Amino acid sequence: MKPPRFDYEAPASLEEALQRLRESGDDARVLAGGQSLIPALNLRLANPGRLLDLRRITSLRGIRRLPSGALAAGAMTRHADFERDPLMQRHLPIVPAVMRRVAHPQIRNRGTIGGSLAHADPAAEWPALCMALDATIVVASASAERRIPAAEFPLGVYTTALRPGELIREIEFPAWPATRRWGFEEVSRRLGDFAITGAMCTLDIDANQRCTAARCVIFAASERPQLVAAAAELVGGPVTEDAVARVAKAARHSISPLSDHHASAEYRLELVETMTARVLKQAAAMAAPTQESIR
Ligand SMILES: Cc1cc2nc3c(=O)[nH]c(=O)nc-3n(C[C@H](O)[C@H](O)[C@H](O)COP(=O)(O)OP(=O)(O)OC[C@H]3O[C@@H](n4cnc5c(N)ncnc54)[C@H](O)[C@@H]3O)c2cc1C
Repeated sequence: MKPPRFDYEAPASLEEALQRLRESGDDARVLAGGQSLIPALNLRLANPGRLLDLRRITSLRGIRRLPSGALAAGAMTRHADFERDPLMQRHLPIVPAVMRRVAHPQIRNRGTIGGSLAHADPAAEWPALCMALDATIVVASASAERRIPAAEFPLGVYTTALRPGELIREIEFPAWPATRRWGFEEVSRRLGDFAITGAMCTLDIDANQRCTAARCVIFAASERPQLVAAAAELVGGPVTEDAVARVAKAARHSISPLSDHHASAEYRLELVETMTARVLKQAAAMAAPTQESIR
């Protein structure tokens, strides 16, 4: 299939891209890694008059550590960059582990965090991972900048809180405490396929084996990734098998699952309960990271 005709521009700076986006109104789309947009053009599911390619804007790519200990990543940072980045491996170890389950190496070498968040496929790992890490999505337009909590960014299938004229500039990940452990699981038909359902969690467990914070996200089960509210019940005590089973059951009852050609809603509900229990147990069983390993 061939795409419809469009004008192509590759602005050299963020300011220029935002200006062109403002002038173009609804007629323009930004192009990041092209791993979703190009197939959509080829299938004629998208028909923009102008593509604004962000690849020349070097300020949009890269990962840095902020004085607060938080990490910030430009929207054009590729999945493979996160997989290999020493800052990520040291300070946010869940990220490289999750990236290894995003598609295939060729796609991870092109696809970007900004593209994945903006595309908002409910089965994509990035929107869920940003929610699990309580990240902030920094979006910019020609006239202003906004900071959107990751939990409020995906609104539904392929729908986000982005407004016309805005693009994602950067994603900020809060510092990872020394007491934090994590779990991640997904079921897909083959390695590299989108998940049929997945879960990820972080648990902060103190020296007395008491859980002090818990965050769990289910993805690929419903129209957007979803925080498991019941995970809060783990806080204040040890993470026991009974407590995990209760949270997993509550997760099952909190989801309105999708039924599609990959899986039935009933199967997804089973997966939600099983995946939730598995990731919480994984995290609870993980050796506590040492202060030294995260400093
Ligand atoms: C065969 C295949 C398998 C895949 N499997 C997986 C998988 O298992 N898990 C997974 O998570 N993903 C998967 N993907 C998707 C891929 O990983 C990319 O994350 C995704 O395509 C979007 O990233 P991109 O940089 O390619 O964005 P593009 O395709 O360039 O853009 C996607 C959308 O985002 C918009 N956009 C891009 N950047 C910005 C920005 N900075 N601000 C605002 N809007 C922006 C574009 O206008 C477009 O609407 C798969 C893709 C393919 C082709």
